[in-house]
Amino acid sequence: MIPTLSYAAAAARAPLAPYRFERREPRDKDVVIEILFCGVCHSDLHTVRDEWGKGSYPIVPGHEIVGRVTRVGKDVKKFKAGDLAGVGCMVDSCRECANCKDDLEQFCMKGATFTYAGKDRHDDTPTQGGYSSQIVVDEAFVLSISDKLDLAAVAPLLCAGITTYSPLKHWKVGKGSKVGVVGLGGLGHMALKLAHAFGATVVQFTTSESKRADALRLGADEVVLSNDEAQMQAHAGTFDFILDTVSAPHDVNAFLQMIKRDGTMVLVGVPDVPPTIPAGSLIFGRKSLAGSLIGGIAETQEMLDFCAEHGIVSDIEKIDIKDINEAYERMLKSDVKYRFVIDMASLNKAA
Ligand code: NAP
Ligand code: ZN
Ligand code: ZN
Repeated sequence: MIPTLSYAAAAARAPLAPYRFERREPRDKDVVIEILFCGVCHSDLHTVRDEWGKGSYPIVPGHEIVGRVTRVGKDVKKFKAGDLAGVGCMVDSCRECANCKDDLEQFCMKGATFTYAGKDRHDDTPTQGGYSSQIVVDEAFVLSISDKLDLAAVAPLLCAGITTYSPLKHWKVGKGSKVGVVGLGGLGHMALKLAHAFGATVVQFTTSESKRADALRLGADEVVLSNDEAQMQAHAGTFDFILDTVSAPHDVNAFLQMIKRDGTMVLVGVPDVPPTIPAGSLIFGRKSLAGSLIGGIAETQEMLDFCAEHGIVSDIEKIDIKDINEAYERMLKSDVKYRFVIDMASLNKAA
């Protein structure tokens, strides 16, 4: 077994604190990765505070993982010791169902194995995430990472990047599309950068006037303060596509009104309280409301390669692991520009 240092929540809503546990020895197709950086996703916070009700504690969160391969199992083909590697939100799936065969493992009909708060398919042990010194993952769920980009700033691509890339691609956002991004946080700022890179006209909706200049710098053609009725009305009925990344309960109907006939609004944010949607918000204008969950492994690699080619990374604030609880409080106040990334070298000092 591999002794592992980490930060974990011992119980629902408990602050994260040092926790030691053991990772499995690599199986034949496993890759052992020394974690260098791990992004802090709002899903980590929802999970450890049991807002989605799936907690089985202790939980080590973290699914925006980049690091270096230290060892591989005997049948591993894609990786060798010394390679850079990434792990996102999933570490396994059944690989046999129709969705897995279509490279959509996130929708595995038997349930994908998520990186934390999941159960290993072979030995039923709990999966534990990336706020830790190393992780052991089957090579089929390990991503190749370019050495051209700032490694810490690449980490958030493993969740925030793919979660926004996938719906933008699926709904064919590109030149000629008018796109709205709701919420300028970790997911939102990646949606903004990617939609801009795809050639769309992008309007950033935010509740934070203080983020206006940043939004323009990150690629927005316009910024709309979503609690200003006049600014909102000026865009009513004009969007082809809106991606809602907001983490807290808010009025989804206000954004459905922004969609033009036959347009689509996609929810990726998962507030703990479900939205109320009057049928009229969709009927008038034949609008679609959809959802999207991360992306498959092949598409995640495609996104990482696209970002490497176009020099796209996350805007990050690097933190030490001991400051994680404070980072969560700042995230709740929408005070993150635009992703916290934990420097895992700080774990040795803290654990
Ligand atoms: P984040 O960095 O905290 O960003 C959320 C943003 O939402 C905030 O920065 C803020 O932007 C806006 N916001 C917050 N509270 C609000 C409120 N009460 N009303 C209106 N706007 C508000 O979070 P994140 O990591 O990007 O995650 C966003 C959500 O996506 C979370 O619910 C997370 O669990 C979910 N998620 C889903 C998937 C998926 O596969 N579907 C994957 C990853 C994460 P402004 O300051 O600009 O208003
Ligand atoms: Zn995430
Ligand atoms: Zn499957």
